[in-house]
Amino acid sequence: MTQSTKSVQPGGFVPVEACWVCGARTLAPVARAIFEFEGYREQDPALAEYTGATVDLVRCAGCGFGQPRAMPTLPDYFGRMYDQRWSDEWIDAEFHSTAKDAIFREVLRDLAARVPAGERTLLDLGAHVGRFIHLAAREGWRAEGVELNPRTSAYAARATGLPVHRADLRDLAEEGRRYAAVTLTDVLEHIPEPVEALQAVRRVVAPGGWVAVKVPHGPNQLRKELLRARLRPGYRPTVADNLVHVSHFTPRALAIALERAGFVDVQVRPAAPELFGSRPSRAGRLAAYAASRVLGPSSPLALNLQAYARAGE
Ligand SMILES: [Zn+2]
Repeated sequence: MTQSTKSVQPGGFVPVEACWVCGARTLAPVARAIFEFEGYREQDPALAEYTGATVDLVRCAGCGFGQPRAMPTLPDYFGRMYDQRWSDEWIDAEFHSTAKDAIFREVLRDLAARVPAGERTLLDLGAHVGRFIHLAAREGWRAEGVELNPRTSAYAARATGLPVHRADLRDLAEEGRRYAAVTLTDVLEHIPEPVEALQAVRRVVAPGGWVAVKVPHGPNQLRKELLRARLRPGYRPTVADNLVHVSHFTPRALAIALERAGFVDVQVRPAAPELFGSRPSRAGRLAAYAASRVLGPSSPLALNLQAYARAGE
């Protein structure tokens, strides 16, 4: 066997044989992810080696879950990708952005309907710059966050005055920390092997407490991208480039993942949209959301999913 004598080797991959959610092995390709890390050439040459690679996104025949056909072998691939050096101005703008407030307010309203006043402790996983825990605290929750990025976690703690942990969830569980509500908003789609991730989440939910998970609807986001590509010549549909989105859920896959992680009373419904851009674009998103609330989470208009589930006693 001849070895390439190139000094620069492309990044490696290891195949994924079974659905991360239901374990089925019938996986059909639905899209292709392209890797582009030229911006990391100085900061992380090993990550930059993945530039130009492609991997299929495959969909499970059993539950509809979408995942990569193969995963990068580079150790801590995701931690390295998310080691982004944001500017102070960008971080501050993120904290003051109202784009996700419709989502945040619905989550707080729905959790308040489930958790009695006086017991309202909350842990937000992937707390980013802290806007959600800030809003939660204003509504009377004893809110804390988990954020691994050193810059955003420091900002979140400073801006909110609330505890923001830069710790692995397993460490928080070991310390005996438990919360009546644990939230993951636009987080689980960034994590491979979501059942294992949710099992770790369950350990910090108090007995009888709730988890709230918001993710994009995988197949509907892909359908929207394919439609956009038909309408705009030259537009390339993107749903999984760099595996930024690595776990692509259907309502059924999200319910199965929560149940397999040990949660009960699972409910999945369409999630409120992110609101930014022009007034017609916002109005369009709100109209699609209103229709999806009537038609249900499996309708093509449900672009995002919101799940609630309870940790058994
Ligand atoms: Zn599956």
